[in-house]
Amino acid sequence: MNELKLAVLGSRGAGKSALTVRFLTRRFIGEYASNSECIYTKHFCLDGRQMNLEIYDPCSQPRQGKLSLTDELHWADGFVIVYDISDRASFAFAKALLYRIRDSHLAACKRVVESAVFLVGNKQDLCHLREVGWDEGQKLAMDNKCQFCELSAAEHCQEVMTMFTKVLRTIITN
Ligand code: GDP
Repeated sequence: MNELKLAVLGSRGAGKSALTVRFLTRRFIGEYASNSECIYTKHFCLDGRQMNLEIYDPCSQPRQGKLSLTDELHWADGFVIVYDISDRASFAFAKALLYRIRDSHLAACKRVVESAVFLVGNKQDLCHLREVGWDEGQKLAMDNKCQFCELSAAEHCQEVMTMFTKVLRTIITN
């Protein structure tokens, strides 16, 4: 496979753009002016294979009542679902997104295997404001057979790189 498509989804403010930009540029940029959706492209080499990667960052999240995700499910080979550990509502939203992906019959026919979904608890640097426990994230991921980590887009460059690499490797090897 030479083309990989990844959708980064989650509540507004959870850190989707911060994670995506961190992965693409290794930089953390505090504020993003854009309110429109973006598709970033990157050419990269993984395990000796040349890839063209497209990352979809909706910037503004789909509203709770509008969780059809039909376009994203058709488009993406894998998903990064982001919540903010200091915002319980963002965790509930991530849960709804995971259920939507899991329940989609599209997943089976579009090569999106469950393990090509990565649940990310972002803003670990704000653990003094934590509203969502690590064990809650871990359990949600286990229940939905997806990978999980907590990290900070602001402070953990290497963890962000590792997380994206893992989900991309999962897509390639399935
Ligand atoms: P998006 O709406 O999900 O794309 O969220 P953004 O990436 O725009 O981030 C929303 C806000 O959270 C911005 O002010 C970011 O600077 C901040 N932010 C993102 N990631 C982190 C993080 O890991 N730690 C902290 N403290 N702030 C973060």
